[in-house]
Amino acid sequence: MTYQRAYFPMKVINLTQGYGSKSSSHKTYPAIDIAGKDSGKDEIYAPFDCKITKLYQPKDTKKHANTVWLTSTKKVLCPNGYYGYLTVTITHPSEITNMKLGTTYRQGDYLCHEGMTGNATGNHIHVEVAIGKNKEWGNKYNRVKPEEYLFIYEDAILKNNIYKNKKYNFIKESNITYKVNSSDGLNMRTGPSTNYKIIKLLNNDTELLKFYNKGNWSYIYNNGNLGYASNRYLKK
Ligand SMILES: [Zn+2]
Repeated sequence: MTYQRAYFPMKVINLTQGYGSKSSSHKTYPAIDIAGKDSGKDEIYAPFDCKITKLYQPKDTKKHANTVWLTSTKKVLCPNGYYGYLTVTITHPSEITNMKLGTTYRQGDYLCHEGMTGNATGNHIHVEVAIGKNKEWGNKYNRVKPEEYLFIYEDAILKNNIYKNKKYNFIKESNITYKVNSSDGLNMRTGPSTNYKIIKLLNNDTELLKFYNKGNWSYIYNNGNLGYASNRYLKK
């Protein structure tokens, strides 16, 4: 069983606004704006198998931005190792009036184009990510940093990843893909030491995703399993 990855909904990544800007919609939460190609309106795709769980469709779109909430219909895998439900909100989609609550999409389905409805100076989308299904949030909206939870497509074009001198680390799956480097294979375990139970033996040269280090161990994913393996036997 393969875990579905969560992706940014656009293929050209041109960061135009990040965290800590004066703009109210970026001050409190880790929101990022991404524009696509220099001119025109890039297509937006479903970041994972999802459902429209909320729509903000104001009458006066010149004053207020439109937003669509897309909640994953199953757990998804993120570049930081999170595996669970995720909600992505997309603000300024140009065709929001055609969208309906409850519509489901498969990952990669065309959703809409980027736009500039509301308070925007150019075509882009404003992206926020929250952990879990939005009905579980209550008053607390569990927002997280989009670039830590969404992969960029393997063929994504990264045009800009710097905002206010800070570099945002957009991750492709190939950036965190490693191989087992041990002729005896490598044990994947439930925790970061040999005291933990073995989940399975990974053969030499098996590909896996490595999310982060925990001491001399790595938190990894392989073919439907998340666990730990010793750093010594991993190679890029
Ligand atoms: Zn924005």
